[in-house]
Amino acid sequence: MTVKYKINELFQTIQGEGAFTGQPSIFIRLQGCPVGCSWCDTKHTWEIDPSLVISSTDLLNKKQESEHWSQLSADDMVKLFKLQNYSARHIVITGGEPCMVDLTPLCDTFESLGYSCQIETSGTFEIKTSKNCWVTVSPKVNMKGGYAILNSAMQRANEIKHPVATEQHVDDLKALLSEHNITDKPIYLQPISQKQRATELAIQTCIENNWRLSIQVHKYIGIE
Ligand code: SF4
Repeated sequence: MTVKYKINELFQTIQGEGAFTGQPSIFIRLQGCPVGCSWCDTKHTWEIDPSLVISSTDLLNKKQESEHWSQLSADDMVKLFKLQNYSARHIVITGGEPCMVDLTPLCDTFESLGYSCQIETSGTFEIKTSKNCWVTVSPKVNMKGGYAILNSAMQRANEIKHPVATEQHVDDLKALLSEHNITDKPIYLQPISQKQRATELAIQTCIENNWRLSIQVHKYIGIE
């Protein structure tokens, strides 16, 4: 049976975060997230309202963020890439929380066509994806939804990208790395909301710990 995914957005841009910063990428944003981060900048993806289903044409024509979503298979999405003449060969699957569903069929289809895949997840759901998919875990600790960070997600991560605004966030990350015995993965600190204090804290903490800085380049250069 063909698997259909709930898609909030599909667009081509430059990846602005983590190890793939600067990489032309097709972003696929899935609808649905129960994690409940207070500073979330994609709250319009949280609810899955069946009355807000739209066509793939309306999805591509979205001019602003909305809670509308479209139901698409991997093949449907490949057709849209062609229709839009997308040139990027890297696909970023994000959300919402994309790991609420099994992403393996989606990544298998894309990879069979020569695309590379990356998923961005909060680490609170079991990660089901292809073996070669690059997994970015951005662990969301102690959020309102009450979900714990899964050890399996931390172990599967190819990179860990942690949002940071306060010392508490740094302490949370250190505790998490220690709890899951993570010693050999690239760690990125990402200042929340481009605030100066958060950025300074991230720079200082990266230098102290030999971690890397991720500054959401797309927001500084004014692209999606
Ligand atoms: S996990 Fe991501 S989409 Fe979900 S609430 Fe947190 S920041 Fe928002």
